[in-house]
Amino acid sequence: MMALAQIETIVDGVFERARAVTTGHVTTYIPELAHVDPNLFAVSICDVSGAEINRGDFEYLFTMQSISKVLSYACALDVCDRSRLDERVGVEATGEEFDSIIKLDRHKRPFNPMVNAGAIAVTDLLMTQYGSRALPETLAFFGRLIGRADLAIDEDVHRSELRTGERNRAIAHLLKNFGLLDHPVEDVLSLYFAHCAVQLTTRDLARLGATLATRSCPSGMVRHSTLRDVLSVMLTCGMYNYAGQWVFEVGYPAKSGVSGGLLSVVPDRAGIGVFSPRVDDKGSSPRGVLVNRMLSEQANLHLFACAQ
Ligand code: GLN
Repeated sequence: MMALAQIETIVDGVFERARAVTTGHVTTYIPELAHVDPNLFAVSICDVSGAEINRGDFEYLFTMQSISKVLSYACALDVCDRSRLDERVGVEATGEEFDSIIKLDRHKRPFNPMVNAGAIAVTDLLMTQYGSRALPETLAFFGRLIGRADLAIDEDVHRSELRTGERNRAIAHLLKNFGLLDHPVEDVLSLYFAHCAVQLTTRDLARLGATLATRSCPSGMVRHSTLRDVLSVMLTCGMYNYAGQWVFEVGYPAKSGVSGGLLSVVPDRAGIGVFSPRVDDKGSSPRGVLVNRMLSEQANLHLFACAQ
């Protein structure tokens, strides 16, 4: 990649172009998310040397939602028995919405850890691993990769989803039916929703992305192979039923969340974080997608692009 200073003008142009996009809608199926200001917008980039570009509301805290699936899977890869993990969740793209239940019923195992069914199964394994300390231990793991020891949960969002998450409850009961959960459904969901309600900024996302880009955790406490495996599944499954189009057009691993956050990783180069609360019918932010499409093209970031 060009030095970060050289892409500042590209980022400014991209930020202004994307700001004009107002398609999509703020998520309402988690009632607490409906209160957010739809016009918030932030873009952060952190390269592997730690240099940063931040634009817009980059200090605004929002909940990770499905971006947490990257970290819960990384945690499971790092600390749980690998054959047990592979038994419980695959690595194939579903081509379905993130909260789809159809394929789970048919195949009796979640397709991948980036969709709700897979992440709920992963959360159960983390509970087995850590017992009653599952929440603090997993948050400490998240913090090691994000580079923050003070991660907090948005309790209102957590409660809101616990109160209303009947679809995830249905998925969890189906998992339980197939013998894929060892703990009570409500306990597993509470931890899964807590992960989704972890708060961060786009700056944190970009730093996390930069760590993934190097496959090397600053504390040295997470295995390189863990981060390689996580990036592989982000590339093929991170954008759900938009994953193929995303790789085609943008060309690097990413993970979306319904609060409007988008984490992208340009291997060996940089992490990119975007936040904009309006999301499309695939659960990703149209501004976030556009920012990445334009950055990828203008800064030549596609993994299969020829060096310029
Ligand atoms: N907490 C949300 C859910 O489980 C996360 C979904 C998402 O961000 N795609 O429905």
